[in-house]
Amino acid sequence: MSGTIRLISPIDGRVYAERPVLPAAEAEAAVARAHAAQGAWAALPLSDRIARVTAGIAALEAMRDEITHELAWQMGRPVRYGGELGGVNERSAYMARIAAEALAPTEIEDSDRFRREIRREALGVVLVVAPWNYPYLTAINTIVPALIAGNAVVLKHASQTLLAGERLALALHRGGVPQDVFQNLVLDHAATEALIAARRFGFVNFTGSVAGGRAIERAAAGTFTPVGLELGGKDPGYVCADADLDAAVDGLMDGAMFNAGQCCCGIERIYVDARLYDAFVAKAVDWVMRQKLGDPTDPETTMGPMAHRRFAQLVRDQVAEARAAGATALIDPADFPADDGGAYLAPEVLVGVDHDMRVMREESFGPVVGIMPVAGDDAAVRLMNDCAYGLTASIWTSDPERAAEIGARLETGTVYMNRCDYLDPALCWTGCKDTGRGAALSNLGYLAVTRPKSYHLKKVQK
Ligand code: NAP
Repeated sequence: MSGTIRLISPIDGRVYAERPVLPAAEAEAAVARAHAAQGAWAALPLSDRIARVTAGIAALEAMRDEITHELAWQMGRPVRYGGELGGVNERSAYMARIAAEALAPTEIEDSDRFRREIRREALGVVLVVAPWNYPYLTAINTIVPALIAGNAVVLKHASQTLLAGERLALALHRGGVPQDVFQNLVLDHAATEALIAARRFGFVNFTGSVAGGRAIERAAAGTFTPVGLELGGKDPGYVCADADLDAAVDGLMDGAMFNAGQCCCGIERIYVDARLYDAFVAKAVDWVMRQKLGDPTDPETTMGPMAHRRFAQLVRDQVAEARAAGATALIDPADFPADDGGAYLAPEVLVGVDHDMRVMREESFGPVVGIMPVAGDDAAVRLMNDCAYGLTASIWTSDPERAAEIGARLETGTVYMNRCDYLDPALCWTGCKDTGRGAALSNLGYLAVTRPKSYHLKKVQK
């Protein structure tokens, strides 16, 4: 199928960019070129690949102003945050730094009789399917280690952030990654799934919705293609009685509202020890009232529109349902005059919520958070685990032992203490339950984009 993908800007609802969808035959030809180019890329010294990828990331940094501006128009992030290149640089530099060690062979024996070792081998052509909410950060988690490990990469970026894929290609090519080794293709779902089903990729990394993840897994079924799935979240925060209250409010509310709540590891529900509950709620409301919703190209704006009006509608529906079921909304949208009933959505804090409400169980992916009082750790653990997702959980306490004990009981990919909504490139980014499976970043991120190959070499005895 062919057609045109139109990117509707959340700023004004108009078409900001449009691109023709690549016809299936051209998509197949592009992937064939990637296969043809991969061997020579993998044969380059590791240091050469690292240098080119690093130069590509530097070329991206050189486009920071354009990227910041385009992000505001594509998905609504305020320009005051300067794009997302700080994280891109941090993660890329870390993955480049650990590459030699992470990819080094494991030597078992090198004697006069045997040489036995396990090497890591590139998987061939890696497909990266990326979402719009952090279009650079999510994509580079796989692109950088995959290229450094010797793979060719095909990127299919989200329709909402079409231009991010083009910027990544431009930058990496400027850095010296060959055109066919990194390709940004404008693909529709059918062509993407057909290529996966035809076993054209050695690895697929999909970051996005649960429904999308299921579709990708179905497409890959029976091909034995490894698939990394980084899907949704409904991440909880828990404020213990011994927490620093102000730090907890600041950290958790920022985690809930940054990027208009459109963070995979954003805080979507908060449980507060009953002794701190009233004070926490009052401070959380104050925190929200200091936000400025509006045009993301205005440097004063702290919260832009959601990326699409349909995402805002989902949040409005969840809030309305919760209120109908007895929840209280503490923020009056009238206090945020930019709320237009469309993509611009006032932040909201809900109390009187429970786990029968969708807003406490299903992903909202928007600027709303429900807050519940809890009697202590057991109740908090039970509620935090009462969810289909498992990406991150954030515990606020002055006692690291207590955080570790609680963390051990949580069904989650990452346990934070006294912070949230941040990816440490030295730690593995992963999830469980409906959040998917796999491992990105850290040394484990290199294992995902390579396969083991065993060498058992028996030496001739003279
Ligand atoms: P989405 O609708 O699933 O789309 C994500 C990407 O997948 C887009 O490029 C999309 O293309 C593509 N896609 C979706 N279904 C596909 C299919 N059947 N075949 C081929 N490609 C397909 O998700 P989204 O709304 O953009 O992103 C938000 C979601 O991502 C949230 O649930 C969020 O929690 C999750 N997320 C998770 C993480 C994590 O690390 N766990 C990080 C970021 C985001 P089109 O745009 O062309 O439809």
